[in-house]
Amino acid sequence: MTRDGLAPLAVAVSLGCMAGRYDYDRAALGELLADQPRYRLDQLWSGLYEHLAEPTAITGLPAALRARLDEVLPTSLTEVARQSTPGGETVKFLWHLEGGAQIESVLMLYRDRATVCVSTQAGCAMACGFCATGQAGFTRQLTVGEIVEQVILASRQARLADRRVSNVVFMGMGEPLANEEAVWGAVERLHSAVGLSARHLTISTVGLVPGIRKLGDRPLPVNLAVSLHAANDALRSELVPINRRYPLEVLMQACAEYLAKKNRRLSFEWALIDGVNDRQSDAVELSRLCRGLPLHAHVNLIPLNPTPGWPTKGTPLSRVHDFCHQLESLGVNATVRQNRGTDIEAACGQLAAGQPVTLGSTRR
Ligand code: SAH
Repeated sequence: MTRDGLAPLAVAVSLGCMAGRYDYDRAALGELLADQPRYRLDQLWSGLYEHLAEPTAITGLPAALRARLDEVLPTSLTEVARQSTPGGETVKFLWHLEGGAQIESVLMLYRDRATVCVSTQAGCAMACGFCATGQAGFTRQLTVGEIVEQVILASRQARLADRRVSNVVFMGMGEPLANEEAVWGAVERLHSAVGLSARHLTISTVGLVPGIRKLGDRPLPVNLAVSLHAANDALRSELVPINRRYPLEVLMQACAEYLAKKNRRLSFEWALIDGVNDRQSDAVELSRLCRGLPLHAHVNLIPLNPTPGWPTKGTPLSRVHDFCHQLESLGVNATVRQNRGTDIEAACGQLAAGQPVTLGSTRR
């Protein structure tokens, strides 16, 4: 036994110097506590994941051990800023990461659920012109611990309002399926340690086909959301550049395979851009794509939120509802997504972590 009662830090070394407290899985924490009685691991695990506690606040552990754990299990996220809507229903957090990158996460309290929107990368390499994260470019991948800790810290905030986080959407900064291993690690941890049900976890993708296939082979039936925005290749390649690599036919095939494997609802996200993808012909094309799938897809309509590098406006709300009705009359399930947090730049596509945004796009 070492002087402080912890096994040597071989675990931390193998996890890499960036390892934060939520990067350790149960086996790795067990190795760290190898010289301790077995029940200490249960206390630490439930302290971190059920009680959302700092190691120093896990009062069942001896004080010296708590202090030492606090040292060897550092936090990954340092809060830089927090903004909240006046009623506190939406809270946006800005976090500083080891190495200097910054990311954002958003807590949304609804009447029937509490949702955290997490980032999966610092920045994003997908370069969708209408998205503030895409405009700022890619910095680095997030680790499992950095993703999980966003949920834990947002859950602490929710607890202040007597609420429990029920849903997690991987829709913050970054492309989740370009960091699939870490995202899946986070999914498993949130499912097994935090106790969130797979049907309350949603991974949103720009349409990375190899990632969708990989997700289909994973054991838990999480929800898949595909950011479609256009139902013909010419327009989609313009809006979502990765469409040139994975065009609609290939993407739809991957979606159909995912549905067949998981039997879960698939949703398509469609940010309505004034005069660009909100015409009758767009609704007709979209309905054709939806009908081509074995299970009906659900379409989530979002009026495009303003971002500094994209001049075209979102469709006015009355026409957003018209588009929704057109889809319904074509037999497609569609809803208009409640737009949360535009006033604090916490809404879809507005997360940019306070980085200066290059005003490069001259489109329209
Ligand atoms: N990279 C992933 C997840 C992050 S974006 C993806 O593309 O799905 C989450 C959603 O917000 C996506 O559907 C994205 O297309 C959408 N979005 C991006 N910019 C937006 C904007 N300015 N207004 C509305 N939605 C936007």
